[in-house]
Amino acid sequence: MRSAVRQAVALVFGMIAFLALVATVSCSSRGRAPEADTYLRWVSFEVPINENVTLRWPKRKMPLRVHLPAPPEGLFDDPGGIHDSVRDAVMDWSDVVAPGLPSFEFVDDAGDADIPIVWAAKPDGNWYIAHCAYDINLASRRFGVARILVTGSWGGHKADLHDVYATVLHEMGHALGLGGHSPVEGDIMYESISATAFEGLSARDRATLTALYARPIGSRVTGAR
Ligand SMILES: [Zn+2]
Repeated sequence: MRSAVRQAVALVFGMIAFLALVATVSCSSRGRAPEADTYLRWVSFEVPINENVTLRWPKRKMPLRVHLPAPPEGLFDDPGGIHDSVRDAVMDWSDVVAPGLPSFEFVDDAGDADIPIVWAAKPDGNWYIAHCAYDINLASRRFGVARILVTGSWGGHKADLHDVYATVLHEMGHALGLGGHSPVEGDIMYESISATAFEGLSARDRATLTALYARPIGSRVTGAR
């Protein structure tokens, strides 16, 4: 049975599908066996006109600088636990592609961060728990993240440690360049979190990020979804 929280999470992810720019995916499977078991076709970015390309951080940007301040008073019942959950959700993407790729470094100044994490008292749109806002220049194929917003409560609900961890893990996938959603339930980049299928990053999540970083930035994706 789905709790209200999980329904809300599903809603969030549904809305993010629209909010996260015009993210679609694509991959050409012909002659690209290593991409066969990925959802790369679903996570590329649509650029004018009628073209889909992959966008991501340049490898030389590693380690990515993340600003994660302490949660403000009153937002969560267990602010220390929530802080650790968000930190874990960032760090659990470490080395997925290769040693050091991606990698993360926490910085004290938000102005120095590639990925600023910002606490919000309540959602500022149709999302719950967390939301990744991009800062992308489609024309120049420059990828960036404006912020990941994390909130603790909405409509009388309070986010628990698991929901915050799972949601931020998903948003971090967006923040690494996965610009859409997996069609397969159980992947962290599926549009909603399944209470029963959640096991952290799946083999497909790992393979898709690996395929994304194996391609040049801005490479065309055919058959985008
Ligand atoms: Zn999403």
